[in-house]
Amino acid sequence: MTIQRTLRRSVSCSGIGLHSGQKVTLRLKPAPVDHGIRFRRLDMDGIEVPAAAARVSRLNYATGLAQDAASVGTVEHLLAALVGLGVDNVSVELNQAEVPIMDGSAASFVYLVHEAGIKELSKPRRFLKVVRPISLSRGDKRIAVFPSDHFKVTYSISFDHPLLRHQSRTQRLTEGSFIEEIAPARTFGFLKEVEQLRQKGLALGGSLDNAIVLGETGVLNNGLRFDDEFVRHKILDVVGDLALVGHPIIGHVVAHRGGHALHASFAQQILEDSEAWRLVEYPAEPVGDGLSDSVGVGGAVLPAR
Ligand SMILES: [Zn+2]
Repeated sequence: MTIQRTLRRSVSCSGIGLHSGQKVTLRLKPAPVDHGIRFRRLDMDGIEVPAAAARVSRLNYATGLAQDAASVGTVEHLLAALVGLGVDNVSVELNQAEVPIMDGSAASFVYLVHEAGIKELSKPRRFLKVVRPISLSRGDKRIAVFPSDHFKVTYSISFDHPLLRHQSRTQRLTEGSFIEEIAPARTFGFLKEVEQLRQKGLALGGSLDNAIVLGETGVLNNGLRFDDEFVRHKILDVVGDLALVGHPIIGHVVAHRGGHALHASFAQQILEDSEAWRLVEYPAEPVGDGLSDSVGVGGAVLPAR
C-alpha cells in the first residue's frame, strides 16, 4: 500500500518574493490525512488558500492562488518539491503574499523537506491514473497527458535565442530523479524583458542569485547547472502546476512551449474530464524505480469523484 505522507516536524526558511521583492518567511508544518497542501496567510488572520486548480488566480510569469481576499503567488516550485518528494499533506504558512524564490529552483525546498523528515500517515494515497488522453492547445502551445504506468514528462521549448532555439527532454519522475535531475534547475528570463517586467511591478526581487538571465548571446550568470537547464526547469514548473489537480498523476505529460497559464488551465481541464482518469490506490510504490508494468494494472480502481 502506498500511504499518504506528511512531514515529521515543522521547518522554516526566509527569502524574498521574485515578483514582490518583499522578504518573506515560510514555514512547512505537518498536516493530517486528506488535508492536502494548503497555504495559510499568517498576516491575514490565517486565511487558508488550498493548492487547488479552482483557486488559480494570477498567472503573470508565475502561478498564483487566491481565496477570498488572500492570495499566494509563485507557488509552483514549492509545489513541485512537495509532489516530487511525495508529501501529500502539509500546511504552508507565509507572512507575505508570495512564496520565496530562494535560488530560483526547487533545491532549497527539497533541502527543507529533508530537514523536516517524512512521516507516513494511516491512510492510502490516491493517484489520478489517466486512462484516456486529454489535450489542450492554444496557438503553438500544447499540452496533453496520455495513459502510462508511470509519471513521466516530455517537454520541448523553442525560443528566438541562440542558446535555446530548441530543447526537449523526457523525464520519468521518481523521488530520486526529481531530486537529481529536475529540482536544481533554475528559472530563467531574458535581460531585454527585465525592464518591461519591472515597469509592470514584476520581477522586483529578481537577480542573478535567483534566475538564469539570458543576454543577447549567452547567460549572464556563471554558467549553467545542466546543458539543458531551461527545459528541465519547464518540467519542474509543469510538475508544480499540475500539483493543483490534488493527486499525484500516473500518466505521461507531453508539453510544447507551455507556460503557467496553459499548465493551470490544463489542471482544471483534467479535473473536469473525469471520464479520462480514475482515482486508484496501489499495493506498491508505483512511481518507484523498481516497478514492473503489471503493478499498474493491479491497482484498486476507485470510482471517479
Ligand atoms: Zn519556474
